[in-house]
Amino acid sequence: LKKSMSVEDVRARAERTLQACIKHGTTRMRTQVEVDPGIGMRGFEGVASLIDNYKWAIDIEICVFPQEGLTNYPGTEELLLEGLKRGAKVIGGAPRYDSDEAGQIKRIFELAREFDVDIDIHLDVGPTADAMNIYLVRGGRVVVGHMAKLSLLPPGEVAALARRLADTGVAVTVLPTTDLFLMGRERDHSVVRGVADANLLCEHGVNCSLSSNNILNPATPYGDCSLIRAANLYANVLQVDRPARLRDCFDMLTQRSARLLNLRDYGLALGHPADIVIIDAQTPEQAIAEI
Ligand SMILES: [Zn+2]
Repeated sequence: LKKSMSVEDVRARAERTLQACIKHGTTRMRTQVEVDPGIGMRGFEGVASLIDNYKWAIDIEICVFPQEGLTNYPGTEELLLEGLKRGAKVIGGAPRYDSDEAGQIKRIFELAREFDVDIDIHLDVGPTADAMNIYLVRGGRVVVGHMAKLSLLPPGEVAALARRLADTGVAVTVLPTTDLFLMGRERDHSVVRGVADANLLCEHGVNCSLSSNNILNPATPYGDCSLIRAANLYANVLQVDRPARLRDCFDMLTQRSARLLNLRDYGLALGHPADIVIIDAQTPEQAIAEI
């Protein structure tokens, strides 16, 4: 399918998504763009061509990553380098789709160091909590997305891992729609929810955000680009009830996300951009509870 995609086609679909994000109040975005010999740089070019046109409403940074494997797909690394040279600020990965998962993680860290960029890697989705890749990840300017396998562990084990992530400075982005859609496929009843408890991670010192992984594609055929809706879904699935924890969910769309992206000009302070998003709610927890 990717082989048949053109720059114009990617651009048109990305533009529709971007407009929906802006309508729902998104002002900063890190977008993950696949590069590999199948799509070449066409996805990158389609997305990059929108950045300037929408600068009035949103700041977008591109994370280039190999969706189809890196060590087992010749030509992919050259395209990652091309993306970094053309201005991608972040490098990602999807080791689950690589024949050498550890090898991909090692190479991503080497490239990040070489180009002095952040890392934002898709990690640990699967039917069991065995051999989790998170133990191969070193700290620094690192975000790991999904971490769905954390939902398969008892809270004590999650807490121990959380303290390790907090100590090494690894942030976690939980992606409720995709993880709900992809996890538990090996079962036909009592299906696991598969969504990591971001509140628990935050309470142990990890910085977390809630976000969308895919919007209207085969891995997540849902989505209207509302992050508040994603947080409401997350809160429902994780049975979040206390107002303070619902408020934390709101922070995971706002100040915690900003910290995760290393934004230095976010929030209400002298000298910061006066971007304002108005939400029809009395409190952050009401916004999450009532959408
Ligand atoms: Zn992902």
